[in-house]
Amino acid sequence: MVKETAYYDILGVPPAATCEEIKRAFRRLALKYHPDKNPNAGEKFKQISKAYEVLSDSHKRDLYDHGGESGLRDGQSGHHGPAMDIFSVFFGGGCRSQSRGDRKGKTVTHHLSVSLEDMCNGATRKLSLQKNIICPKCKGSGARQGVAVQCPKCRGSGMETHLLGQMPGLMHTLQATCSECQGEGEFIRSRDRCRVCSGRKVIREKKILTVHIDKGMKNKQKLIFHEEGDQSPGLNPGDVIIILEQKTHPIFQRNGNDLVMSMEIGLADALCACRQKVHTLDGRTILVTSRPGKVIRPGDIKCIPKEGMPIYRDPFQKGNLIINFQVKFPDPGWLPINNLKQLQGLFPPRPQPTLPGVMEEVTLSNYDPSEDHKHQGRREAYEEDRDNEFYPQPMQCQTS
Ligand SMILES: [Zn+2]
Ligand SMILES: [Zn+2]
Repeated sequence: MVKETAYYDILGVPPAATCEEIKRAFRRLALKYHPDKNPNAGEKFKQISKAYEVLSDSHKRDLYDHGGESGLRDGQSGHHGPAMDIFSVFFGGGCRSQSRGDRKGKTVTHHLSVSLEDMCNGATRKLSLQKNIICPKCKGSGARQGVAVQCPKCRGSGMETHLLGQMPGLMHTLQATCSECQGEGEFIRSRDRCRVCSGRKVIREKKILTVHIDKGMKNKQKLIFHEEGDQSPGLNPGDVIIILEQKTHPIFQRNGNDLVMSMEIGLADALCACRQKVHTLDGRTILVTSRPGKVIRPGDIKCIPKEGMPIYRDPFQKGNLIINFQVKFPDPGWLPINNLKQLQGLFPPRPQPTLPGVMEEVTLSNYDPSEDHKHQGRREAYEEDRDNEFYPQPMQCQTS
């Protein structure tokens, strides 16, 4: 859907009209309303010319289709293409696809997968890419050495002059795009084409880019290599953008400059003092300890300052290492029963339940929900679904 149709309406074509249809419609209307023939239709001719100027230029047409006349104005601020030669349509000129001039080739983006170790320690990676370079044999002329590439018809100007009509004492000429070279100003016969690039002016070349990954670089960080993209005659080379993609690490997750890990410790470590080895991203082994007498509970979060990621561009500064603790309880029967009293003696005294006169004593057994399900086999399935829906999963702890 186009935003406005005014320009299409002026030319009497549908918004889906092809470049050829627009050109034909303009040619017909321009002949009819040309001020030479129709001196009172100057305003109409201006409108037709304006509409054609926009719709015959793919860039301007795009701006107009998306944003109407205001979109065209905004899109063109600071963009001044060469003035349109409206008469080129009378003599076989093509639709202008892009204005020529100081333009830049397209930007190429690559994703580079990087380990957390490389983002911590810094690394250099070689990346091999294919790109177009100006043909070194013909220096981008596209022709064999010594062969003139200038179009003989227009002598390189890209324009030709037509004699439109002659009235007594007045000669009327029109400038139009050269029909031989389509306005390129160059024309190379097939036998004169450069053997290396076959007249294409560019060749494919393998290029090795050296990517320096600095300490502390982030996931999705962009590295821009200016003008390392495709070369093309008359254009500034495009850029290459490398986007770093951080690989997942089996132990550490990254949270900004902090590293987060889970650590499972035994009950003795949790109660007495923990001593756990951690292999850091920069290849050291550190011993993580807690002071004797400190208790680590399941779910406790502790931190070690300056054992996180180095800070980008200030790599002697580092984030924290944050540890989420899980406590592994001993297996059943780990302590002989006759030692239990001894262990009990180490803990604070337990409150004893007060016993009424008659009381039945029951013993705990293991609970297996799937076993339970078998016993209550008649339970309706939809009821189970409903349970899941109304009793959401417990929330995960946030570490940030
Ligand atoms: Zn060549
Ligand atoms: Zn020419």
